Amino acid sequence: MATRSWAEPYKIKAVELIKLTTPEQRKEAIREAGYNTFLLRSEDVYIDLLTDSGVGAMSDRQWAGMMTGDEAYAGSRNFYRMQETIETYYSYKYTVPTHQGRGAEHILSKMLISDGDYVPGNMYFTTTRLHQELAGGTFVDVIVDEAHDPVSDHPFKGNVDFAKLNALVEKVGADHIPYICVATCVNMAGGQPISLANLHELRSWCDQHKVLLVHDMTRVAENAYFIQQREEQYKEKSIREIVFEICSITDIATMSSKKDAMVNIGGFLAMNDPALYEQACALVVVYEGLHTYGGMAGRDMEALAIGITESVDDDHIRARVGQVEYLGEQLQRAGIPIVTPIGGHAVFLDARRLLPHIPQDRFPAQALAAALYLESGVRSMERGVVSAGRDKTTGENHMPELELVRLTIPRRVYTQAHMDVTAESVIQVAERAEEIQGLRFTYEPEVLRFFQARFEPV
Ligand SMILES: *Cc1c(COP(=O)(O)O)cnc(C)c1O
Repeated sequence: MATRSWAEPYKIKAVELIKLTTPEQRKEAIREAGYNTFLLRSEDVYIDLLTDSGVGAMSDRQWAGMMTGDEAYAGSRNFYRMQETIETYYSYKYTVPTHQGRGAEHILSKMLISDGDYVPGNMYFTTTRLHQELAGGTFVDVIVDEAHDPVSDHPFKGNVDFAKLNALVEKVGADHIPYICVATCVNMAGGQPISLANLHELRSWCDQHKVLLVHDMTRVAENAYFIQQREEQYKEKSIREIVFEICSITDIATMSSKKDAMVNIGGFLAMNDPALYEQACALVVVYEGLHTYGGMAGRDMEALAIGITESVDDDHIRARVGQVEYLGEQLQRAGIPIVTPIGGHAVFLDARRLLPHIPQDRFPAQALAAALYLESGVRSMERGVVSAGRDKTTGENHMPELELVRLTIPRRVYTQAHMDVTAESVIQVAERAEEIQGLRFTYEPEVLRFFQARFEPV
């Protein structure tokens, strides 16, 4: 068993009971869910590692803040508090609240992308790319090659590869690139960070080519932690200082506050340019709500403001990423193939190496997620060919190099004992890996198919 010299920097004030199920119940539940863990009822889940989105535990301070919600239609005091907090911690002057991250992506894509434009990014994210495509753009992956290699130990797999970026400019011209979108702690690469050295270089590149730098800041605090640990000149800086520096060298940010900021719902689009802010205000009122609430209740904006201050605390982030590492290291010691280095929000199982007998068009990661649920009631998520979807022109499946199952750790929710049970379950599934069968679609939605697709064993 692993040991560690610190414990969670909080104590438990309220608990939520969870249910243990029998193997028979789980067999029935996963069949009914079409072998898609998104379609399971949460009540049938024991340890829920589907996502870290909106499932964090709010602090007593955040709950107290909820009671101070000012639910005015216009000009809620909580909006101003949130906007000031965003400026103080994240540097951005103007904030447009949205119901969650994709609301911000929608508005941003509509504002900046014209038909035929290209939008480079450090690996795609599902909703981000779809909004870019719906606005007439084409996403281009410019992340370093190491990001696609699950065994590379590159410390900053989220970095941008400038050769790829320059090749794109040569091919399409910088005037067809409205912006580059970089994510901090790249979700689809396994929660892998981008370095500040790379970001500073990107800032100069963007100035030189007159391309805006957009920051998908969903997991900026986790990225800051890796910078503190791995980038020499930042090891004495606080998470708060590093987060501020990252934000201050980018032009615009989209945020899903359901992740880093530990609220159950909410997000925003933030920026420094008043002209862009004016455009964003004109769109938010159509798609989300008035520019001072944009799809969020006053109480939720208050909880978000407090969540931001807690998310950049050094003790919090060390324990948060530490818990992920604790799980990952147990799996590594047992010889389970996972993506390395271990990411900031999740441990990613490498389904290609765990289930070499299942070809990619039989969805090994999807099958592995279903098998893990059957084993122990632990819910995980596919991040492979099902999530990647189909090419918008050829209609063929995107065949990503990474075929992963994500064990995503909610913030401040589970204890070390839950991590131990999870590790044991994965090890048990791996021991009988050859019994796991591939899957085929019985229902395939046209967009974001992973959410609602149904399967059957082949
Ligand atoms: C979750 C997520 C989003 C979308 O945010 P939602 O709040 O789920 O709409 C965008 N980018 C990244 C990197 C994410 O992880």
